[in-house]
Amino acid sequence: MSRELPADARFATRAVHAGLTPDPYTGGVVPAIHQATTYVQPAPGEFVEDYDYSRSANPTRTALEIALGALEGGAASAFSSGMAAEHALITAQCRAGDHVVLPDDLYGGTYRLVDKVLTRWGLEYAIVDQRDLDAVAAAVQPGRTTLVWVETPTNPTLKVIDVAGVVERAGGALVCVDNTFATPVNQRPLELGAGAVVHSTTKYLGGHSDAVGGAVVVADPQLHERVRFVQNAVGAVPGPLDCFLVHRGLRTLHLRMAAHAANAQACAGFLRDRPGVSEVAYPGFGGMVSFRHPAAARIAAGTRIFSLAESLGGVESLIEVPQAMTHQSVEGSAAAVPADLVRLSCGIEDPDDLVADLRQAIDGAG
Ligand SMILES: *Cc1c(COP(=O)(O)O)cnc(C)c1O
Repeated sequence: MSRELPADARFATRAVHAGLTPDPYTGGVVPAIHQATTYVQPAPGEFVEDYDYSRSANPTRTALEIALGALEGGAASAFSSGMAAEHALITAQCRAGDHVVLPDDLYGGTYRLVDKVLTRWGLEYAIVDQRDLDAVAAAVQPGRTTLVWVETPTNPTLKVIDVAGVVERAGGALVCVDNTFATPVNQRPLELGAGAVVHSTTKYLGGHSDAVGGAVVVADPQLHERVRFVQNAVGAVPGPLDCFLVHRGLRTLHLRMAAHAANAQACAGFLRDRPGVSEVAYPGFGGMVSFRHPAAARIAAGTRIFSLAESLGGVESLIEVPQAMTHQSVEGSAAAVPADLVRLSCGIEDPDDLVADLRQAIDGAG
């Protein structure tokens, strides 16, 4: 059980304390990394809380799940990756013959999961630009659409979607928001009326590029039970060390997000004034920036502080070309991205060093 925080505790206080309870044996202030896979039962079928086998429940994971739930304002389940979390939510919510609505700019892996895996099990989908709420309403098929998937800001072009507006137009379908880019520091979809949130905790929540993980957080206790059932039945659970690392990351989330945003603001400001650079996208919060430049590949290969790598959300800055790297699975689809697009994940280094790095890379790319 988590120690009770005052009900009006603000976000930073919740981020620092959520899910932490002194170890009952030693008083240790952080959760132990419980590696045990099984638990001794005093009599057959008698065990503490849900702890009979570590796929079903593990104390280090429970601590993380309590923390994630406290930050998003719902009931959380942790998974071994963001994709495992997405798969669990979709399979807990949908059945063969159901229809889902996807955004036209989304994480490539989400598109691949639906288009290449779940359609084989009878799921159907439509893709719409969700900035157009009428288009969302038109894509919803009454009685058949059971899920509207939202990603905001979108990836990689960083469009901001009106979550409450989508909820209004979803015709009663569950609205699930991939909150990986925004994080609960900037956006708490359940407070906007969405029924579910998913995360790749690999990114900002973990924040240090050292653990792959995912989470589902839902508003409705019955949906939570269904997600839990899939979590245990399919078994894509995170290991205790990864749970510990993500939970440790959560405690500095608010500070890191402020530094990411300041650096992204500085990089976007520099890029907007730069000849040759076009379509600089920065939604005004978070650490992601994208822009177009004819020498995209040479710029991405020419930075010294920004590392050329996939992924995002860590303390170190990363640069990538989505079309060649993270978004190959959407090539040729309605969600395809232009080849001259560059995406930055601005870390928490000094902003002047990041801007100087972009300047030399762009100058060097000719
Ligand atoms: C990375 C990412 C995912 C997938 O998460 P994994 O942890 O890599 O499985 C899903 N959505 C978004 C927006 C992401 O950036």
